[in-house]
Amino acid sequence: MLRIFSEELQDPKNFVVTIELVPGRESFGRTTDSLVGIAKDAFADGRVSAVSITDNPGGNPSLSPDVLGYEIFKYGLDVIVHFTCRDMNRVGMESRALQLARLGMKNILCLTGDYSGKGFEGRGAPVFDLDSVLLSRMIKGLTHRLLASGDPEPFYQGCGVSPFKTRKSECIAQYKKLDKKIAAGAGFVITQLGYDINKFNELIRYHNEKNAHIPVMGSVYLLSPRAAKAMNMGRVPGAFVSDALYKQVASEWKDPKAGMNAAIERAARLGVVLKGFGYRGIHIGGVHKSFDTVGAILDRMEEIEDDWPKYLSDFADKEKNAYYCYDQVTQVEETPEPKPGIRDRLTDHYPYSFLSTAHNLFFDKTNVLAPMYRKFAQFLENHDKTWVLKRCLEDPMKMSMLSCQGCGDCGIQHAGFLCPESGCPKHTRNGPCGGSRDGFCEVYKEKRCIWVRAYDRLKHADKLSTFLEDRVPPRNWELNKTSSWANFHLNRDHQKS
Ligand code: SF4
Repeated sequence: MLRIFSEELQDPKNFVVTIELVPGRESFGRTTDSLVGIAKDAFADGRVSAVSITDNPGGNPSLSPDVLGYEIFKYGLDVIVHFTCRDMNRVGMESRALQLARLGMKNILCLTGDYSGKGFEGRGAPVFDLDSVLLSRMIKGLTHRLLASGDPEPFYQGCGVSPFKTRKSECIAQYKKLDKKIAAGAGFVITQLGYDINKFNELIRYHNEKNAHIPVMGSVYLLSPRAAKAMNMGRVPGAFVSDALYKQVASEWKDPKAGMNAAIERAARLGVVLKGFGYRGIHIGGVHKSFDTVGAILDRMEEIEDDWPKYLSDFADKEKNAYYCYDQVTQVEETPEPKPGIRDRLTDHYPYSFLSTAHNLFFDKTNVLAPMYRKFAQFLENHDKTWVLKRCLEDPMKMSMLSCQGCGDCGIQHAGFLCPESGCPKHTRNGPCGGSRDGFCEVYKEKRCIWVRAYDRLKHADKLSTFLEDRVPPRNWELNKTSSWANFHLNRDHQKS
């Protein structure tokens, strides 16, 4: 009998188990057969509500989750399809969502996605036309349309969150973006992987204060030395494995059988702790060959469930300099935030003051001079001369100060007067992706994430209350390479009143 993931997760009496499957770069063969085998055995076992299938993980090409998911779905197990913003624009994404709806696969995990990896003859073009907040909004809108046209089932869309962040700015940004995703329609949340129990506690406390009605599932992983090394070195965006844990895992796996037993025990312990904290389920990853390991984790969880507080100290490692929003469950030292230095003043504080003053003077529709600016813009438009404004004033200023890309639908005011087009390789307009590490960008590791800089700028200007408050629509590509100044005053951009 088909178990319905959405119904099971929304019933607070249930503790839901899902498994993450990662397809490879093949349509047939051993890897694909193993994944289908895991799903079939999970269905037969009866304790797993659904499998989730990744969407070109790491940005590298792999078998489509839609195709593999449908095959599994037909066997009777419910499926959650990972849906990223990296490989398609909004047109392709909507078409893909319609295809999934037609196939009956309505559980969608909306993710910004890792950056593009290597495909045919090199790195692929990163699209990122929407971000995860906007994707959630698009799917929610689609649900209304589909129901109106007679489709009986709505989409059940979820989102990811990474609590494993070290800087205060990153933590706040992740949680505020989580609020936006939920406001945009996310009906469930799955965390990133990590082994810091204080961070898991922080997330669930924050979430219960804000959005307790939305279930959160915690990620649990069958940790091999290879995966532990990748997470420890920051090669899995948003995941966290401490140096000590990596060393421990490496030593456990000197004997592969002992290593596997230790991995099962660790996953089971983390699983019961998450259940004890009030997570509504676990999402088990790292299972590539057979369902037996998942069965062993679930058996062990049943044995040790009541003793969960005993295992808190197993996961007490913290990342260097980590910030915590709440008092911790285990004793870890608090590290002060770094003080702003001369670089911050030159690259952030002074430009912010200048741009914010200019914005208030020229781009505030409540300003007394606004009607005059509008008339001037209209005059240029009527005489086909907006290009003069753009080339002579706008481009030189914005290119030198913001490395402006000329999108014509300017979003700097939502990001502390930093440009999401030039500053963020994923062009996020509603807050950071989950991949920043120690405040630095997932893609360009030497550059600070623009959302960390935006936070620091707003904090310095005493305007933190505005951080990530706006619900920003996607950029309008019709305006590409036109004057954003004229577009603003002529009510053509996303701020039209
Ligand atoms: S700048 Fe920040 S949000 Fe953009 S890709 Fe880098 S880490 Fe992600």
